Amino acid sequence: MSQTIATPDAKPLPALGALHIDPHSYPEGVAFLDGQYLPMSQAKISVLDWGFLHSDATYDTVHVWNGRFFRLDLHLDRFFGGLEKLRMTIPFDRDGVTEILHNCVALSGHRAAYVEMLCTRGASPTFSRDPRQAVNRFMAFAVPFGSVANAEQLQRGLRVAISDKVRIPPASIDPAIKNYHWLDLVRGLYDAYDRGAETALILDFNGNVAEGPGFNVFCVKDGKLSTPAIGVLPGITRRTVFDLCAEEGLAATATDVSVAALREADEVFITSTAGGIMPVTEIDSARIADGNVGPVTSRLMALYWQKHDDPVWSSSVSYP
Ligand SMILES: *Cc1c(COP(=O)(O)O)cnc(C)c1O
Repeated sequence: MSQTIATPDAKPLPALGALHIDPHSYPEGVAFLDGQYLPMSQAKISVLDWGFLHSDATYDTVHVWNGRFFRLDLHLDRFFGGLEKLRMTIPFDRDGVTEILHNCVALSGHRAAYVEMLCTRGASPTFSRDPRQAVNRFMAFAVPFGSVANAEQLQRGLRVAISDKVRIPPASIDPAIKNYHWLDLVRGLYDAYDRGAETALILDFNGNVAEGPGFNVFCVKDGKLSTPAIGVLPGITRRTVFDLCAEEGLAATATDVSVAALREADEVFITSTAGGIMPVTEIDSARIADGNVGPVTSRLMALYWQKHDDPVWSSSVSYP
């Protein structure tokens, strides 16, 4: 009648419910874990890892486009900065991590890839509550490139809702440490879906706009760009927008961005490694300006993708 689970010493334990069925629906890709390169479906960690139990982890995501990493150095800077702030150590230096990331991509064969490096606190052999006794665990993987916005949304602009959820304040977690504390963002997403929007923006502790699930936000008013300054992850794509604006002679500042300023903007876009620069044309069911993707956004999108072939901004992967 009831299922049994075999224990290592072969004593059967009664099953309390249906076994979790592994759907084997892993994306095609290659992971590096515990010194080995593995298919994604075999890259698994202990449920006792603090990364899983306490979100005690940091990570970074870089992308490969046309077989080239985009601004990998900046992602490595941010990742190693996070490790240091969280007092984590890994057995690889920058060159070692670079080599592992290259190998994951080359072995996966993907010419457009989403590449993640991460470190969890790990677990201690005694299940100690002292984080210093945990053995930190470094992992990396390369899967097909994914975007916050699909092709249709990139063309017509995203429909976004502003949730009243407040981003975890910087006094609690330094937002420069890229982290998995996403419950505020996920709750914001459900608010957005309930209101018929496609994604969410949430607020900072002062009630200004902060960021969304994995992306920063910009608005354009009278030809000038602004983006929230505090309580947000300093995105590499956000930084890239500043660099492109400097090249183009456009004014861009990091400052407070009120909800009203966002609604009254001429153009709004979001930025993420997962998708680049992505237009927003509707906020809380109201159009931004005339509801079309604006000229500054279109220009920056074009420049952003052009830079992916530039050896100053990108480095090639050598595939087998
Ligand atoms: C990763 C991330 C971003 C975007 O950063 P990029 O470096 O541009 O990908 C923005 N906000 C949060 C919370 C993030 O985790």
